[in-house]
Amino acid sequence: MVAFFLEKKYPSLRVALIDAHPSPFGATTRNAGFACYGSLSEYVDDTKRHGEDYALSLMLERREGLRILQECLPPEDMGWKREGGSELFLDSEKELLDECLAIRENLNTKLSKSPNNPFKVILDPSIDLGLSKNIQAVYNQDEGSIHSGLMLRSIQRRLSQVHTYFGTQVHHLSSHANGVEIHSNHFQLNAGKVLVSTNALAQELLPHLDVLPNRGQILVTSPIPSLNIKGNIHYQEGFYYARQLSDKRILIGGGRNVDFEKEQTADMEVTPEIQAAIENVLNEAIIPANTDYRIDYRWAGVMGFGSNNEKTPLVGVDGNIHYIVRLGGMGVALAPYLAKNWVNEI
Ligand SMILES: Cc1cc2nc3c(=O)[nH]c(=O)nc-3n(C[C@H](O)[C@H](O)[C@H](O)COP(=O)(O)OP(=O)(O)OC[C@H]3O[C@@H](n4cnc5c(N)ncnc54)[C@H](O)[C@@H]3O)c2cc1C
Repeated sequence: MVAFFLEKKYPSLRVALIDAHPSPFGATTRNAGFACYGSLSEYVDDTKRHGEDYALSLMLERREGLRILQECLPPEDMGWKREGGSELFLDSEKELLDECLAIRENLNTKLSKSPNNPFKVILDPSIDLGLSKNIQAVYNQDEGSIHSGLMLRSIQRRLSQVHTYFGTQVHHLSSHANGVEIHSNHFQLNAGKVLVSTNALAQELLPHLDVLPNRGQILVTSPIPSLNIKGNIHYQEGFYYARQLSDKRILIGGGRNVDFEKEQTADMEVTPEIQAAIENVLNEAIIPANTDYRIDYRWAGVMGFGSNNEKTPLVGVDGNIHYIVRLGGMGVALAPYLAKNWVNEI
């Protein structure tokens, strides 16, 4: 996204985009494609931990990021759909639901730049959301989804002036008075400025930053034509997320909370333990009993979080080395906002 905004604002600037893999291979090509700006329970939790200003500004930044994304690309170039999203609350989460409902009006007012109040209570999601069970839900009409691969391709197609060096691993950066020396496995380059946007792997180049890789796992079922699930589904305080794809498959991911320690890894293999937890949720909340389906795809990617599970991005500069890293599980929404701001400020 940074290259996209640089090219737009400074068409004659010489920009090089370097990635270790033949095609970007981090979170962007492996995410779940949720275009959302946070749930009520996340807002409650963020408020408790960091205060209301923090919780609100994180929501507003993501909402702005999604607005910018839609300004950059037409919907068909990123598979954009706006079908809303729902946070489900189990019977055992009654207390949490009550807390969420208590702040709902207030938050709706604060988000009042939305066309309507975004958070609505739905009492019977089995009818409205197409779910198999009657689970209480809070619906946010603003949520959408994208096809991440399509979006990346569309951005890349628009980069006509940017030099791309794929399959090039940067080993070391050294900042000096006039710029930065970039040492890679193929060549050494000099640049006036470098922006490190290696997200979860930021410590390889900037070891002092508090960013640790955290694996996120996903699976996708075979098409299930009998299901008509409306929008995004967030389950168990957002630790699980699901949506129905246009070919009727269910994409569902999450489960990092099953074993935070083991999932703190840059390894992109799926594991039986987390995949089983995801399948449990799939059967518990989404797919009715006796439905015939199989799992067609499974994959994992890495997200960047802080050592205490901090999810907010780290944006800063050391000499001529700038960085925007640690995008947590929010990069679809946050990246356009952060990228546009950075380009406007340099
Ligand atoms: C399973 C999963 C589901 C997710 N779901 C969502 C979602 O639904 N909604 C949402 O908003 N966010 C989601 N996210 C998070 C989102 O995908 C990320 O926040 C976002 O993609 C980060 O983008 P990025 O460009 O900063 O980093 P990345 O996409 O991770 O890219 C980093 C790049 O850096 C390259 N690199 C690393 N080290 C080097 C080096 N030394 N030299 C050269 N290149 C290097 C890598 O090859 C990689 O291509 C999810 C993430 C995962 C893993």
